[in-house]
Amino acid sequence: MPLIRDIINVLETAAPLHLQESYDNAGLACGNQDLECSGALVALDLTMAVINEAISLKKNLIITHHPPIFKGLKQLVSGDAVSDLIIACIKNDISVYASHTNLDNVLYGVNGEIAARLNLQKTRVLQPMPGTHRQLVVFVPEKNEEAVKTSIFTAGAGIVGNYDECSFSAAGNGTFRPLKGSNPFTGELNIRSNEQEVRLEFIYPVHLENRILQAMHAAHPYETVAYSLYPMENRFAELGAGIIGELDEPVTVQHFFEQVKARFQTGVIRHTELFKTTIKKIAICGGAGKSLIISALKNNADLFLTADLGYHDFFMGGRQMILADMGHFESEQFTSDLIVRLINEKIPTFAVQKAASKTNPVNYFL
Ligand SMILES: [Zn+2]
Repeated sequence: MPLIRDIINVLETAAPLHLQESYDNAGLACGNQDLECSGALVALDLTMAVINEAISLKKNLIITHHPPIFKGLKQLVSGDAVSDLIIACIKNDISVYASHTNLDNVLYGVNGEIAARLNLQKTRVLQPMPGTHRQLVVFVPEKNEEAVKTSIFTAGAGIVGNYDECSFSAAGNGTFRPLKGSNPFTGELNIRSNEQEVRLEFIYPVHLENRILQAMHAAHPYETVAYSLYPMENRFAELGAGIIGELDEPVTVQHFFEQVKARFQTGVIRHTELFKTTIKKIAICGGAGKSLIISALKNNADLFLTADLGYHDFFMGGRQMILADMGHFESEQFTSDLIVRLINEKIPTFAVQKAASKTNPVNYFL
């Protein structure tokens, strides 16, 4: 039986916590990672119905998209909605883990699921995140170049788009003088050493930094390794908020909305005036997406499909882009399928399933 920690590792490999937005609170909300995991139940939100389902199915892990503790919780007192949920989980030895904006910010995440169901092609992130990568420069003796390179690649550095094992190297002369207490790989005490070295450069995702540095040290022959870490301003099309892509061919907005209604079982789609006859380029943000309206405009989307738009937000598309609100739960509902799939791919024998309980708090009186 895997530990709860093992299930979390699978989720964090796919959606590292480092990628969550600053306001978020993804991760383990309550529980003990070192317990064996009897099974996991997946839902968009933590509700009492989901907890009761987990109890009856004897599953001690609930994985949600929305963190159950989002704003600071200063007390755990019965009668408060969030406290009651957390108390119920703790009483029943159930751990709760949330994969939220970190799962929004990977291309194959929440928005990738929506885009796939609308057959969007040529998808890329709508608003790439800053600060996801850094550059590592390390100086290595020539004969150790390949070993160090391989070790650093194996730890996850050097991946750019559809390429891996990316690096740059240039030969040069390195100097150092071993001092008292040193145990140099080469050279003599108190005498300046000149060594033929190679300057190796890699880029790497920040969340793998510790692993990559460990791999570098493990393969490097020097007692004290000369290396530098540099921040990068580059933004990568695979990491960030929202998604944008194209339909196979232009369709009428009515046709597009019919597809959305059928595939997402939406109660209602609220939208601005349909001033375009056909649309092709679609921007998407599951859940509350008003912060991405400007990015969708800049990327020349014909239509931006999202949720939680307020009255004033609907003015922001102007006569350039149609705005459509499909409902928060409706847009993100397939996130649970994604989480189940991510775990199944890595641990096929593990009992993970979607909760049967309805968690959408919004109902439509039609
Ligand atoms: Zn959401």
